[in-house]
Amino acid sequence: MSRVLVVEDDAQLLRALRINLRARQYDVDVAPDGATALSVAARFPPDLVILDLGLPDMDGVEVVHALRGWSSAPILVLSARGAQAEKVTALDAGADDYVTKPFGMDELLARIRSALRRAAPADTAPIIRTDAFTIDLPARRLTTDEGEVRLTPTEWHLLEILVRNPNKLLSQRHLLNEVWGPSYETETNYLRVYIAQLRRKLEPDPSRPRHLLTEPGMGYRFQP
Ligand code: CA
Repeated sequence: MSRVLVVEDDAQLLRALRINLRARQYDVDVAPDGATALSVAARFPPDLVILDLGLPDMDGVEVVHALRGWSSAPILVLSARGAQAEKVTALDAGADDYVTKPFGMDELLARIRSALRRAAPADTAPIIRTDAFTIDLPARRLTTDEGEVRLTPTEWHLLEILVRNPNKLLSQRHLLNEVWGPSYETETNYLRVYIAQLRRKLEPDPSRPRHLLTEPGMGYRFQP
């Protein structure tokens, strides 16, 4: 049974989340503000945290920072529509994913399952298969229906980070930092160019990508 900590100051939403999560056999702790969240998390270490970014006593991003000091549990942030900068800051602080309010319970539950699966200590499969292509990471071989596809070292690097984090939203800054280095963190057009190249090589219809997905203004997600 997974332990989920829900941090939300909207009492009605908090109640709805608690009922829905308990109905699906999660062990649920709740907190209406950041300070309570941190003390509950310390007493009952969660397997996953659902965190509203707009809290009455402190910025949700501070809660992410504080939790990341000692916990590697996935953090799923809830944020208001349009609060783009806030979501990016939360992801950079170590949050794993976000859901925009208002959201459907089914969507949230799917994100929770996916975050918990990723957090499970499974070694990343060195061979990744989708309906469009197969990637053999150790052999650095990429094949599609058309045969073997050649990638440049930079394309490999970028693709490898994405496919090693299936379904996870990776922020632009994180990808730029990993592939090109810290001084390139704002060069988002590098990413656009390289992602477009990868889509041309991998996606059956590069204009309607199904595996290398853009989250506008946020980053990219590999969907197997
Ligand atoms: Ca709130």
